[in-house]
Amino acid sequence: MRFETLAIHRGQEPDESTGAVTVPVYQTSTYQQDGVGKPRGFEYSRTGNPTRAALETALAALEGGRHGLAFSSGVAASCAVLETLKAGDHVVAGDDLYGGTYRIFEKVYAKWGLKTTYVAADDPGAFRRAIQANTRLLWLETPTNPLLRVADVRAVARVAAEARVPLAVDNTFASPYFQRPLELGASIVVHSTTKYLAGHSDVIGGAVVTSDRRIWEAVKFHQNAAGAVPGPWDCWLVLRGLKTLAVRMREHESNALHLARRLLKHPKVAAVHYPGLPGDKGHRTAKRQMSGFGGMISVELAGGPKAVHRFFSRMRLFILAESLGGVESLVCYPPAMTHGSLPREERLRRGIKDDLVRLSVGLENKQDLWDDLKQALGG
Ligand SMILES: *Cc1c(COP(=O)(O)O)cnc(C)c1O
Repeated sequence: MRFETLAIHRGQEPDESTGAVTVPVYQTSTYQQDGVGKPRGFEYSRTGNPTRAALETALAALEGGRHGLAFSSGVAASCAVLETLKAGDHVVAGDDLYGGTYRIFEKVYAKWGLKTTYVAADDPGAFRRAIQANTRLLWLETPTNPLLRVADVRAVARVAAEARVPLAVDNTFASPYFQRPLELGASIVVHSTTKYLAGHSDVIGGAVVTSDRRIWEAVKFHQNAAGAVPGPWDCWLVLRGLKTLAVRMREHESNALHLARRLLKHPKVAAVHYPGLPGDKGHRTAKRQMSGFGGMISVELAGGPKAVHRFFSRMRLFILAESLGGVESLVCYPPAMTHGSLPREERLRRGIKDDLVRLSVGLENKQDLWDDLKQALGG
């Protein structure tokens, strides 16, 4: 079965006892057992829940993986992967990361003796050079946040294979509709399902997908032992979102391409970062490993802090908010919002300038979106 079909049917067969076409919300904490030591498949909802199981099956299918695990947030999913490591281990990570992921590495795990080296995500050689005897994991995001740089997943997966360590890819920005890292050689996919997968800005969730049984068992152990599991309602919302992922992603991309082309020609815009533009640095790699370029754009405004302030104060349709991947268009200011936890020097070193704005292009009418950007830019 192909993607659109899997998204609607895999893990979501009609309910056996009632015939309900939609997977029910199994709002229960525990399950009757037929006898001591004879559960019917579920024992306790931290360990497993039928609504969550449906979501985990669907997510694995969409990523082309064998095993899926759902979490209460994207950061909880990331933590569960890092929990497979131990004190003294070393991670090499791409440097243009979600701010919260950087915070996990530096403020949560560093004090437990996990060391992370950051390298340019779009330079596979830099990953190789940063590997040490104690390196146990490579980690990257692509397209990156907020600069939309493109990492060559196949090339970094080869580096990981040579070093005999797993590569984890945060696939939140592309979604499995446009990019499937496991098929490109990665061992682990991480998601914030809060974004495109759920797609309606109404739930927080995360996921890990892998085909490696040992990794799955280790992450699953942590999921149950530490318990950052999503409730059944949240799983249900993500499942509902998944069904329309394909149609939504096609339209997100079409709208983003429309805006990126126009922004590129606008005199008040200094630079546009969108891998779908032929002149973009990551375009060739993106074309090789993705089937589309997604709905995220970042833009450097011309005219300094005043222009940035004016742009945000004039915006009418785009909503100023963190997050991305919902049906409504959002705009954010990474230096103060998503990447506010990075020191300014660190931000600038990574190319996140003070005049950078990030757009999550939604599903509104293209012309309405452009009209709003145009009037906010002034001209
Ligand atoms: C939002 C996000 C996360 C964190 O996910 P939450 O659901 O907010 O915990 C991780 N990675 C990327 C790329 C994100 O955009």
